[in-house]
Amino acid sequence: MKIILSALCAVMVTLTGLSQAFSEELVVYSARKEHLIKPLFDAYEKKTGVTIKYITGKAPVLLERLKSEGAQTPADLLMTVDAGNLWHAAREGVLQPVSSSVLAANIPASLRDPENRWFGLSRRARTLVYSTERVSPSELSSYENLADPAWKGRLALRTSKKVYNQSLVAMLIAEHGETKTEAIIKGWVSNLAAPPFSSDTKALEAIIAGQGDVAVVNTYYFGRLQKKTPGLPLAIFWPNQSTGGVHVNVSGAGVTAHSKHPDAAKALLEWLSGPEAQNLFADANMEYPVNPSVKPHDFVAAWGEFKGSDLGLEKAGELQSDAIRLMDRAGYK
Ligand code: FE
Repeated sequence: MKIILSALCAVMVTLTGLSQAFSEELVVYSARKEHLIKPLFDAYEKKTGVTIKYITGKAPVLLERLKSEGAQTPADLLMTVDAGNLWHAAREGVLQPVSSSVLAANIPASLRDPENRWFGLSRRARTLVYSTERVSPSELSSYENLADPAWKGRLALRTSKKVYNQSLVAMLIAEHGETKTEAIIKGWVSNLAAPPFSSDTKALEAIIAGQGDVAVVNTYYFGRLQKKTPGLPLAIFWPNQSTGGVHVNVSGAGVTAHSKHPDAAKALLEWLSGPEAQNLFADANMEYPVNPSVKPHDFVAAWGEFKGSDLGLEKAGELQSDAIRLMDRAGYK
C-alpha cells in the first residue's frame, strides 16, 4: 500500500510539474524581425506548450525600455544582433548570468560572454565581396590589405555609424593595437570609391553599377542579392585565412536580470542552441549556425568553408568606444 501511495505521489508531483511547465508564458524583447523569430517560437510552443509573446524593435529602444522598466519588466529574454549590442546590454545590467552545460557545449567560447550573460545563437561573417569583372581573387588577401594604394578609388564601405563596422574595427584593435589599426583605417578611407553607404546592400549595388570593386559586407546581404538576381558579377572572398581569420559576429540573446521565469527562459535558450532550432534560425537569414555540429544551409555552404576569427567577441564591446573614436580620427564617416 505504501509503495502504491508513494508511486501515486510521484505521478502527481510529475503532473503538477508538467502543468506548470505547460502554463508557462515567456516574453521576449527582440531586435530581430518577426519573420526571423516567429517560426522558431511557433515550433517551441508546439513542442513544449510554453507560450512565447514577443515585442520587436530597434536594439537601443529595447535596451532603454528594459532599463526604465527595471524590476517591473515583463521581459524574460532579450534577443539582438551584434556582440557589441549584447555586451552593452550586459554592461547596463539588464541581463543575468546563466550557467548551463548545454549552452557551454553547443556554443563555442568565443561566441558567448565569458560571464555567461549573453550567448551567440547565429553566426555571421563580415567578409569581402568583389567584382568578378574587375578584380582577380589573387589581388585580395586581407582586411589590412584593403589599405594598400592598389585599391585607390575602388573600396565600397558602409558607414562607420553601423555597429557591424564598429565591431569589425574593435576586433582589428584587439588584434593589432590602436596605432596599426588607425593606419589601416586611414588607408581604407583614402581608397574609398564613394562616401560610405547607408547599408551593406547599397555598397554591393554600387559595385554592380561599376562604382567600386570590393566591399566589406555580411554574407547574407550578398546572399539576398544573389537569390533575387542569380548570376550577378559578384563573388565572396574569405580574407585573413593565413592570419587571424574572417571577422565573425553573432546574433544572440540573454536572460533578463528581472525575468520572472529564469528557468523557462534558460530552457528556451538551450533549445535555440540545439540542432533543431539552429537550422531554423540560421537559414532564415542565410547565416551560419553557432553550434559546430550543425551544417549551414546548402545555399550558404556553396560560398565555401573559411577560417573564422576565434578572438573572444566580448572585445567587440570592450573596444567599441575606442573603435568609434579611432574611425572618427581616421576620417571614416
Ligand atoms: Fe544585418
